[in-house]
Amino acid sequence: MSELRFKALIDSQKRGGKNVEEKGRRSEYFGSHVFNEDKMRQFLTKDAYESVKAAIFSGSKIDRKIADQVAEAMKCWAINMGATHYTHWFQPLTGATAEKHDAFFDLFHDGRALEKFGGGQLVQQEPDASSFPHGGIRNTFEARGYTAWDPTSPAFVYGTTLCVPTIFVAYTGEALDNKAPLLRALNAVDLAATAVARYFDKNVSKVSATLGWEQEYFLIDRALAMSRPDIVMTGRTLIGQTAAKGQQLDDHYFGVIPSRVLNFMRHLEMECTQLGIPVKTRHNEVAPNQFELAPVFEEANLAVDHNLLLMDVMEKVAEEHDLKVLFHEKPFAGINGSGKHNNWSLATDTGVNLLSPGSTPMKNLQFLTFFVNTIKAVDTYEELLRSSIASASNDHRLGANEAPPAILSIFIGTQLSNVLDELEGVSKGKLSPEEKTELKLNVVGKIPEIMLDNTDRNRTSPFAFTGNKFEMRGVGSKTNCAKPMTILNTIVAKQLNDFKKEVDVLIDTKNLKKDEAIFNVLREYIKTSKRIRFDGDGYSQEWEKEAKKRKLSNNKTTPEAIGILTSKESSALFKAMNVMSEVEVKARQEVELEAYIMHLQIEGRVFNELVYGYVIPAAIAYQNVLLANVSGLKDIYGEGFKQLAESQMAIIGRISEHVEALKTKTDAMVNERKKANVITGSKAKADAYCHKVKPYFDEIRYHSDKLERLVSDAHWPLTKYRELLFVK
Ligand code: ADP
Ligand code: MG
Repeated sequence: MSELRFKALIDSQKRGGKNVEEKGRRSEYFGSHVFNEDKMRQFLTKDAYESVKAAIFSGSKIDRKIADQVAEAMKCWAINMGATHYTHWFQPLTGATAEKHDAFFDLFHDGRALEKFGGGQLVQQEPDASSFPHGGIRNTFEARGYTAWDPTSPAFVYGTTLCVPTIFVAYTGEALDNKAPLLRALNAVDLAATAVARYFDKNVSKVSATLGWEQEYFLIDRALAMSRPDIVMTGRTLIGQTAAKGQQLDDHYFGVIPSRVLNFMRHLEMECTQLGIPVKTRHNEVAPNQFELAPVFEEANLAVDHNLLLMDVMEKVAEEHDLKVLFHEKPFAGINGSGKHNNWSLATDTGVNLLSPGSTPMKNLQFLTFFVNTIKAVDTYEELLRSSIASASNDHRLGANEAPPAILSIFIGTQLSNVLDELEGVSKGKLSPEEKTELKLNVVGKIPEIMLDNTDRNRTSPFAFTGNKFEMRGVGSKTNCAKPMTILNTIVAKQLNDFKKEVDVLIDTKNLKKDEAIFNVLREYIKTSKRIRFDGDGYSQEWEKEAKKRKLSNNKTTPEAIGILTSKESSALFKAMNVMSEVEVKARQEVELEAYIMHLQIEGRVFNELVYGYVIPAAIAYQNVLLANVSGLKDIYGEGFKQLAESQMAIIGRISEHVEALKTKTDAMVNERKKANVITGSKAKADAYCHKVKPYFDEIRYHSDKLERLVSDAHWPLTKYRELLFVK
């Protein structure tokens, strides 16, 4: 091992001993840093409290006087908590969060100092955020964007800053962020699902989408991670011979959590608890140094904010433990990558989970209604849903035999498949009394109340029903959940609207009873959405063939996948559901394409640096050692050296071959990159990066990894996989 690497490794063992004491019972300090209901009751007048509650429940406007009161109360509370600054916290299209801090501190006209934070500052801000991606919506010369308070996600104090969750919009009204479209989609699904839920219970006046994400990530010693230019610049290793031992022994999965990691987790969970993020489970994942964290599910907007906040907090806490978190979907070749399952359901304000089977046939009819409509929605818009999880980094993972393929399908298990099959056989139009009884007792009535433990589990399905919720499994570990959640809730909203119309027509014109009408429409949906249901092995080649026959989309790369965003059907959908205008959708597509290009561009540059700056010099240095050895042998043994130097000569030759190949491939890649860079039009440019530049990456890696095996460990300059992945 090279001296430098050896020293780094030994140092890494000395770090991270930081022990963390529990602050007490978590239930006692849960949300202590959040301006939540409790604090609102405590700090707000009754009028102000009710006004904020109404805004949360129905989206009603908060008038300026009330906003002043809320701001004053928030300020007092936050200063008490040690805050000195405030920020509007928002989600630009980069996928991360952004903030711009301002001090509460201000001056009176006469120069005296005060702490100031009024309704104006709470409700609206104008960050000079002109460098955020906007896909052409906002010309820097014309209009600036502004952030506006989202009262449905409570403000919180993080460190010494009061953070106010906000949307980010252009003055012309277009959303420049991921939150505004999400809020619109959640509103659409609320209206649509409430109308349908009222077939079953007139007391329902609001339906919220719920989201429970599961965040996977890698933890690496910080200094070792920093020693790799590729991890620093791209979040993943671009080259690296896989370690002798990967995940084949399954000894990491659910294994004992190393104490250094445990300290990190405990610290992280304490921070999360204060911030009101209801973290619940932690465990080792499949790959070495890979872990997962999952909270109790929440209303979707809040859950999205909490996931973004979590990712931020994770990075900060990791730093304190000399660790680095990798959120990249595929940081290491040869072992599993990371995803972020999105568990999703719909809940009424009467406390019912609409995707949970109940104890009576009527409750089960309600369950089936939402269940079948979700299936139908995913069937109609499978390609659009797939587009919502597309990114350069997630392309590495989808379909890589560790994650669902790029084909969307739904797994529902045998029991529910049987129920749907039976429902499909129900006759059209009016039902005879016998048929009705049969249906209620033997079909709908047979669905067990608690499906959770009864559902067979299929880990290869991208969209699986897991007892009382659907689980979307293709979401990338880095992805902002707002993206898939916006699309999923929009398509379900549209579907439920269509359903309601169809049922009402049958009731009004065909004289059918409500449940007969519902059965009739559901039966049609079951028939027409069959192709999306698949219970087999989603990772298999046969499924790819079968899916093609079923005309399901299979868009393997991001440029392909996001084309659908601007199709006629998608535009019409977004418009009808008031989620995005054509301009907003186009802008998002543009931003995604640009992000894709930039990611590959950076990777290409880093490849170049690694090959010329590290790999080739190391190979040549070691080759020189061999050459010296050979010429030494020749000096001493004369012609007899040939026999003695056979192996050395062979290795010298192989090194030269790989160096030659590396140079050729890298230069060719750079050349393609130059050609791609001058292409105008982001789609054509992204395509060039995808099909002309990217294919070289694997080839370069191949030769570099061969050299890593040939070159002496002492000469290898880059921290190796085994050093990155097995350090406790
Ligand atoms: P897995 O078997 O996929 O690891 P887990 O039991 O770890 O599943 O996680 C289940 C996830 O589902 C949790 O994050 C939980 O909060 C979430 N969840 C449970 N019920 C709902 C629901 N009604 N809506 C949304 N998410 C839910
Ligand atoms: Mg899961």
